[in-house]
Amino acid sequence: MRQNFILQVILSILIVTMPVSAETTIYRFTKIIDGTGEALLARDIAVESGIIKAVGNNLDRSSNGNLVDMGSLIALPGLIDAHTHITYGLPEAPKGNAWGELGATTREQRVAAAKRNALLTLETGVTSVRDLNAGGGIDFELRDAINAGAVRGPRIFTSGPGIHPANDPSPEGTDKTTPEFLKAAAEKRIESGADWIKIFGTTGSADDLTSRAYYSAAAIKAAADVAKAAGKRITVHSYGIEAVDAAITAGVTSLDHPVGLTENHIKAMKAADIIYVPTIDHNRYYAQHSEEYGYDSNVRANLRVFVGRNIETVRRANHAGVTIAMGSDAVLTGFGENTCELRAFIAAGMSNAEAIKSATLNGAMLLGQDNDLGRIKVGYTADFIAVSGDPLTDINAIISGVTAVMKEGVLVVDHRTGGKVNKPNCGTLY
Ligand SMILES: [Zn+2]
Repeated sequence: MRQNFILQVILSILIVTMPVSAETTIYRFTKIIDGTGEALLARDIAVESGIIKAVGNNLDRSSNGNLVDMGSLIALPGLIDAHTHITYGLPEAPKGNAWGELGATTREQRVAAAKRNALLTLETGVTSVRDLNAGGGIDFELRDAINAGAVRGPRIFTSGPGIHPANDPSPEGTDKTTPEFLKAAAEKRIESGADWIKIFGTTGSADDLTSRAYYSAAAIKAAADVAKAAGKRITVHSYGIEAVDAAITAGVTSLDHPVGLTENHIKAMKAADIIYVPTIDHNRYYAQHSEEYGYDSNVRANLRVFVGRNIETVRRANHAGVTIAMGSDAVLTGFGENTCELRAFIAAGMSNAEAIKSATLNGAMLLGQDNDLGRIKVGYTADFIAVSGDPLTDINAIISGVTAVMKEGVLVVDHRTGGKVNKPNCGTLY
């Protein structure tokens, strides 16, 4: 214990005295909360060339760096949304048949909507997303434009079109579930430059809450094997448990959505370090926005029941120590509500620190970027947010209090002296 204390003191002295140059900007906060969910014994973050150069106290005394006083704001790492559909958007508000209206959009309209969604996402404090199903190469285009600095938005890790019977129609008379068919489908994504291979393992989306398996376990494994050999990550969409065993056997990186995981599934996911992205809140979104989609009261009731099942599953998985990442499954008017998922995590029994970790460090682990993103730590990319209020006591400080957002050392959102802080209407959870 005492040795630990001495080590801490030595470390903090090392951190404080790390040299910083004149090009360095030091941001001084009231408090800094790391992606581990712990408050640091430091208030200053020194940024240079988009990288965190030092974290400590009174850093300006040991350098000629510029000091920016962030007042009473609290810093956290830039958030990571592990499940978006950033290319799903309409030129105007939905008129009651949102999916039909989306189907009628032009590519140009989708590109414009994707850019708007990217900005709305930044306003929520999200600086990185994993986008999981997009057509026409719009996701790649947006990713590259953002990386080049031509468009303002979160960095995007993308899958291109998910592997799905609608995206991968089988040639007449052939069995689409063969391992060879799915292997070829995965190879196509790898060639196109996808960062992720997404497999729709089951039905289930929006008002369809079914979970019927599309593919055999052998087929899913064949796609996963070829993806892994190419250094890609794999995720499986399973609304219920119908594709969960196949995904676990295939050794996927993550499982998206599933409700009703058994204790054996939970044990196996933990043992294999498979990350759970439960996307609880998106069914609240569909219920709350049902008029935009033309959903009736029956659909609304079913969505609310599903939210309850999802919360119950997350409660057990979290208790058992499964790594959980925040994914909004945001579509259309859901952008700007990305972080309402954190409220659902608290409802499922997570501590505030665990919820913070799910949206930062766990997201970075999922992306394979945990040496670069998701923490406020020397050497990491300078992505951080400034919130009013303390999210360790009230998670709403993140949901409705994001006052400034820094991405790669640039303040891409700054409402310290004006402009509207994003305050989503998360409505009633269930
Ligand atoms: Zn989705």
